[in-house]
Amino acid sequence: MGKKVVKFGGSSLASAEQFKKVGAIVLSDPDRRYVVPSAPGKRNKNDTKVTDMLYDCYAAAANGENFDGKLKAIRLRYQEIIDGLGIDLSLQLEFEEIRQNFLNHIGSDYAASRGEYLNGRIMAAYLGYEFIDAASVIYFRQDGQFDSEKTEAILSQRLANTEYAVIPGFYGAYPNGAIHTFSRGGSDITGSIVSRAAKADVYENWTDVSGFLIADPRIIDDPKRIDVITYKELRELAYMGATVLHEDAIFPVRQAGIPINIRNTNEPDDPGTMIVATTCRQPKYTITGIAGKKGFVSINIEKDQMNTEIGFGERVLRCFADNGISFEHMPSGIDTMTIVVHQDEFEEKEQQVLSGIQMLAKPDHVEVETDLALIAVVGRGMRSTRGTAGRIFSSLAHQRVNVRMIDQGSSELNIIIGVAQEDFERAIKGIYDIFVTARL
Ligand code: ASP
Repeated sequence: MGKKVVKFGGSSLASAEQFKKVGAIVLSDPDRRYVVPSAPGKRNKNDTKVTDMLYDCYAAAANGENFDGKLKAIRLRYQEIIDGLGIDLSLQLEFEEIRQNFLNHIGSDYAASRGEYLNGRIMAAYLGYEFIDAASVIYFRQDGQFDSEKTEAILSQRLANTEYAVIPGFYGAYPNGAIHTFSRGGSDITGSIVSRAAKADVYENWTDVSGFLIADPRIIDDPKRIDVITYKELRELAYMGATVLHEDAIFPVRQAGIPINIRNTNEPDDPGTMIVATTCRQPKYTITGIAGKKGFVSINIEKDQMNTEIGFGERVLRCFADNGISFEHMPSGIDTMTIVVHQDEFEEKEQQVLSGIQMLAKPDHVEVETDLALIAVVGRGMRSTRGTAGRIFSSLAHQRVNVRMIDQGSSELNIIIGVAQEDFERAIKGIYDIFVTARL
């Protein structure tokens, strides 16, 4: 029998109605053996996530204020789900214990983790699966780092003896048993860790979108879905702002060679996006995806004979490093080099960096160009397709977008293009159209 780990995000579990969809999905495939739930998310745009309600409630408790009203509102969220599902489950004892622990100022990590814990209890009761408290199988070291070895040893043993189980996402325990959480959105990480420990065939990550889209739907109307993407491509796109999955969720499954399948709870028949280590499947459109971000500055430095001056680049970069600024890109010419950095990071230290460059590198000319946007065109198919760069730049010319910078990563997996911020959306549309729309 196969093994699938299924993680459901907060919007998939926000209400009884959503829970029912999740139940149908899990029970429709006997391979879906380990379920990792988030806490209930927003039921509509103006709603509040239970995790945020818990942080807020605990802050009141920590301040010595009366928090009964806030805790009651959280309890109601769960009660509504229990009633809607018609299951026989009382969380009375759990809430009494939570209240007591809040009064004892147990800590905000514990508080936030109850969102997943209680949802896990409900999910286990609803599905008739065993409940495994994440605090008994997911471990952190004393310094707060995830303890991969200990977790793998204990969790894999535990799962080998358990056919079907619910393991709440987002938290684990310190060596002394106290609760610690991953960063926000961390249930994705739990799902990945459980997948590795279970040696799953696939890690299904169910959310409210049908996978990754080729471009941002706020810029492109109804963009096409990415069917298959490699971890490396995903990293490039995620870095440029395309987020569906917590970044740290990649590592455990990637290590174990387990693919991730992003799926939509509201459209369970959509195949979603497969994230894999490698694939022989060429992307349909040469490019796999386009992503971008605004808010960059480029510092253009000129010096005659720069190419022969040993250590010039090192001196320039040191001025950024000394001021705690990491650089994004560094295209260079024979006597020129350009450093691209985040505008908000640079602004604060601008004068220190510039005077440092003057003193250390003695350039002929330095120019700062603000309000740049970077666009990454990513695709494993680019390496083997002639004319990709040509098509990108002719589409930009067609859109009357002036290209300010070009940087092609050595992996030949992406081309990064710098444009003025006001040209950002137009540039993305142009590139999308030439590769995707024009292919139809
Ligand atoms: N519930 C947590 C959060 O809102 C973790 C998660 O949903 O993954 O960040």
